[in-house]
Amino acid sequence: MTTNDLDSLRTKLGEVADIRAAISLLHWDQQVNMPPKGAEARAQQLATLSTLEHRLFTDVALGALLSEISEGPDTLDKEDARLLRVTAYDYERARKLPDRFVHEVAEAQSRAYEVWVQARKESAWSVFEPHLEKIVELSGRKADYLGFEESPYDALLEEYERGMTTDKVKRVFKQLAEKQSALVQRIVESRNQPDLSWMDAQWPEQAQWDMSLSILKDMGYDFEAGRQDKAVHPFSTSFDIHDVRITTRIDERDPFSSLLASIHEGGHALYSQGHAESDRRTPLAEGASLGMHESQSRMWENVIGRSLPFWGHYTPIMRGLFPAQMKGIEAEQIHAAINRVRPSLIRVEADECTYNLHVILRFEIEVALIEGQIAVADVPALWNEKMKHYLGLDVPGDAQGCLQDIHWSLGAIGYFPTYALGNLYAAQFFQVILKDIPKLWQQIGRGEFAPLLAWLREHIHRHGRGKLPQELLVDITGHPLQVSPYIEYLQTKYSDLYGL
Ligand code: ZN
Repeated sequence: MTTNDLDSLRTKLGEVADIRAAISLLHWDQQVNMPPKGAEARAQQLATLSTLEHRLFTDVALGALLSEISEGPDTLDKEDARLLRVTAYDYERARKLPDRFVHEVAEAQSRAYEVWVQARKESAWSVFEPHLEKIVELSGRKADYLGFEESPYDALLEEYERGMTTDKVKRVFKQLAEKQSALVQRIVESRNQPDLSWMDAQWPEQAQWDMSLSILKDMGYDFEAGRQDKAVHPFSTSFDIHDVRITTRIDERDPFSSLLASIHEGGHALYSQGHAESDRRTPLAEGASLGMHESQSRMWENVIGRSLPFWGHYTPIMRGLFPAQMKGIEAEQIHAAINRVRPSLIRVEADECTYNLHVILRFEIEVALIEGQIAVADVPALWNEKMKHYLGLDVPGDAQGCLQDIHWSLGAIGYFPTYALGNLYAAQFFQVILKDIPKLWQQIGRGEFAPLLAWLREHIHRHGRGKLPQELLVDITGHPLQVSPYIEYLQTKYSDLYGL
């Protein structure tokens, strides 16, 4: 190995990173700016760039460079060793998937997505069914290419949450389901239900927009290295640590849905803006996993953004923007309203106490599909049965049931568990944060987030993918994945709110 080899490696990785950023930028533009007739050309542009990216990254010359460096006589410093480890992992995984298979997947996905949009509109499962059959079949082949020890689902999960296994998730979700269902039951039966009638008003879009920008600024989101736009679905995307963008959607009947979406996406964006300067244009400048990313967004949205101290600070500011709608409204009323628990059909609208139950239901169905225990045709009946079991609800149609989420149409099987894992990681981290920053709640009550952000930067953000998710968790908390911190958090918060 020579310094030249390392330089060549960094140059090649930089080129791959540039193409990936261009792909993300095209996706961002598609959802924010693109006129409808641009869709066809955009699909071609994305397919071409994705093929180029895969070809460039899986080039044998890059493989040769990786083995030359790792087998070379010189010892690598810690930073270079991290880069080599993560790149070699990605390279080997990408090389296991033949080019023609990647192409077949991309084609099947774009067809399935188009059909899913239509099927959801018409609430017609039968239209989507053959496409999901194809996606499931391809996912099975993908698992075979990638290899696995126990369940083919392990290979799919690995893509989103490296090191996590189906069996581990099953055990954790079993405990979560029991404890969360019991808590939801007590809340639903409580006489102490919040009054939401004051929210029934018109909440002008511009004032909502201004409010979200001022909170994002307070959180530490750097607007010189980011921007917020409107899109149908809120998301965040990163092209570089100095260009991390978010979107939100505004509902004039509800002043909190867009605000909390901005805080959530802001949490993702702070993570992306906080990776190390020296890791730019390398695979290290990303979150450790999707679950780790969700730990950031969910901590900001739920633990901070739905807390009483937070609203102690922001209620008067919001009252200034909505003087008529919020006349006489105090922080306690907002706190009660935005934490209302009510079993509902739609995952993205679910409250904190029922949210994981939506995820568990999807995980169980996905595992059964991938392990071949059920057929795609069984999904609607099974979905409805589980909805009744976990949330006590009857599903009126597939649009509000098994057709509601985009993930399966995109071939993203194995993705859902990361949402619930993010909640658990966040609760574990937050126990440590409260020990390290004893005055945290007082600071939040003054709208001061700098000490919290500095902690997150130091312990989580700057590492990027340099540490595996479970490594990060153990390094920070001293424990592997645990259920109890999250359950304790929910029990304390909701016992107060509902007088349990
Ligand atoms: Zn998120």
